[in-house]
Amino acid sequence: MARHIAVSRIAESERVKSFLKRCLVTLPGDERPSSSGAVPEKAPDPEHLPRFVVAVDGSNVPIPVRNGYPGAEIGFISVALVLLDLQRIAGLSRQRFPNPSDVVKTTTTDAGEFVLPGNNVQLTDGLGPAQSFRWQLHNVLTEIRAAADGESLLDTYHALLAYKSHDRTERCPYEDCAKPDGSLERGTGAYRCPCRLGRPLYSTDALRIHEAFSPTRSSGEAYGETMQVVERLILVNFLRTIEQKDWLDSLGRIAFMFDGPLAVFGHPAWLKDAIQRELTRINDRVRTVTGRDLLIVGVEKTGEFMEHFLRLDMTPQDSPGNVEPGTLFRLTDQYIKRHIILSKSDRPYGFQTYFGRKFLYKTRSGARIVGMTPFFNDYHSDTTTAHVDQFPRLSDALALLDSVVSSRYPDAVVPIVEANSQAAIARGVGIRVLERLVRELLANDNR
Ligand SMILES: [Zn+2]
Repeated sequence: MARHIAVSRIAESERVKSFLKRCLVTLPGDERPSSSGAVPEKAPDPEHLPRFVVAVDGSNVPIPVRNGYPGAEIGFISVALVLLDLQRIAGLSRQRFPNPSDVVKTTTTDAGEFVLPGNNVQLTDGLGPAQSFRWQLHNVLTEIRAAADGESLLDTYHALLAYKSHDRTERCPYEDCAKPDGSLERGTGAYRCPCRLGRPLYSTDALRIHEAFSPTRSSGEAYGETMQVVERLILVNFLRTIEQKDWLDSLGRIAFMFDGPLAVFGHPAWLKDAIQRELTRINDRVRTVTGRDLLIVGVEKTGEFMEHFLRLDMTPQDSPGNVEPGTLFRLTDQYIKRHIILSKSDRPYGFQTYFGRKFLYKTRSGARIVGMTPFFNDYHSDTTTAHVDQFPRLSDALALLDSVVSSRYPDAVVPIVEANSQAAIARGVGIRVLERLVRELLANDNR
């Protein structure tokens, strides 16, 4: 029994009207950002621009399969590293009309592409869909690595798992587990539950992504969480591989760009603390070698922060262009809660999910960017203030955004891969990117 109510009638309703009167409203022009924490400023000059950019590029899509069961699907996930040469980008951006045949997207099949079983799909060895999903998630991490002779994503994951404190609320994935408290037994790789049923467990069960898996409907959330985890593991894996090969000095000439926020959402959110601690550890070593912090930038394409930026950019006549190109806004927690994410919480915005903090930047070409830099210490993560030095390598990050965001695609923010595919000199996860990078760096040294 559906009752249809005209929207106009709802808006006229006295109940709705009196409710809205009690709601807090902030409208553009009510208060300029400068009055509560985010002061627009000219972007500072870069100090040390990198030569190469490694960008992480992931996507995921559910694919229906015909196996005789209704609604059967698999999840296809692709995560790759793209190596960009900033000098080549500078050359390209001087070309007014790029030759369309130059704009060829390099496609490769690499270990960074994999499939996860979805609902009504099971692997042949008799595992049900849910267990097939858990098995495959563990399995794919063993196959992906930045260097052929380097550690796998699973090894990287184990290093991060070691930071995780034990948590009694972690449940065994088998509902009928015979352990008295039903808690998840922590382990490495593939092992068995110590209860009398002794069924297979995987270290990746601690990610809890299988809790988003549904045996009866599409599991898009589980594919998305998997992609998110693999993207972040690849970044850490790449850095750890460089460290293990004793090439930390090369990190002085490489920047990392992340298509998406420096955060981990959903079931595996605990991973953000571990990633933050591992990045901090590696950054401390990089600083002793290069004298500088790592340059890592996350770029957010959509969401509340972007909407807020669009509104800030509106002139009183409601046309875009209020913010001058080359303008930066450093955001405090107070500003975020007051203007972007309504909250009275004492805890800082995003403290359970973010391993970095946000700024708004309008590039010199006029593109609006919601960017992030990582936390490498407690000072960086203290969002009650927003000083320049709380954003590691901020001036270099902005100059990097200026050079990779093409003026030809001002608001198609992710420049990184689409707009500058001509500047990509390697793409993939396996040996391609790392080997090519080393070759380019050596060639540079000899010049
Ligand atoms: Zn058990």
